[in-house]
Formats: sequence, structure tokens, C-alpha cells
Amino acid sequence: MNFEYDDQNIFARILRGEIPNKTVFENDHALAFHDIEPQAPVHVLIVPKGPYMSFDHFADAASADEQVGFMQAVAEVCRITGVTDGFRAIANTRTHGVQDVPHFHLHILGGTQLGRMLPK
Ligand code: 5GP
Repeated sequence: MNFEYDDQNIFARILRGEIPNKTVFENDHALAFHDIEPQAPVHVLIVPKGPYMSFDHFADAASADEQVGFMQAVAEVCRITGVTDGFRAIANTRTHGVQDVPHFHLHILGGTQLGRMLPK
């Protein structure tokens, strides 16, 4: 798999500070911010700071420190947003996964009953 990263994508621009965001949490390896069009009472996006276009690119190429830092951000976002009754983590990927922004991001959705993952 050839993972090509386009550094003009909207999340790269957010990471460079060119576009504002509503930050929920930040550490050395990840930034978490509110989705601009929330689809649930809690809708936070967690992105790695490195140039990874998808979840599988990140899993394949990110260093151990980057991967641990990202997962620590996931834990912090869950703590901060208080999704104790549960949540859904989604990583839409490429064409079949309908990924709009080609920088890996994990959606954390919660704060309500979300229903089944996919229609049967
Ligand atoms: P995807 O379809 O790639 O998984 O999701 C991209 C998400 O990014 C969408 O939920 C969309 O609302 C969100 N989004 C797109 N542009 C911006 C932006 O400029 N700021 C923020 N905070 N979210 C954005």
C-alpha cells in the first residue's frame, strides 16, 4: 500500500494553526477538537500530529511514541467529555469508508443512544 499524504488537507492546516479549532485536548503527538458539524452531543475528532493519511497508514508507519501518545489522547478525550455511558469511535477510511479529510482522524461520538452501527 502506497500512502500518499497531502499536506494541504484541512486538518494539516488546523495543526499548523492556519485555521482555528475548538481544542478539547492536546499532547506532543495528538490534537483533539470539536467537529465543526457535530452529529451527536459529543463529537470530537482526534488527529495525530504526524503526516498520516489514514488509520492503517498510522498503524503501519507511526512510531511507538506517536501511537502511545495518540491513545493517551483518546483516553483523555473520553475522560474530559464524560462519555461514561459509552461512545462510538469511528475511523472512516478512503473510498469505501467514505473518508472526506485525508489526514487520519478518530471520531468520538457520544452523549446519546447512537443506535446500531450500520443499518441491517
Ligand atoms: P470524515 O468523513 O473524513 O471521516 O470526517 C471529516 C469530519 O471533519 C466531518 O465530520 C466534518 O464535519 C469535519 N470537519 C471538516 N472540516 C472541518 C473543520 O474545518 N473544522 C472542524 N473542526 N471539523 C471539520
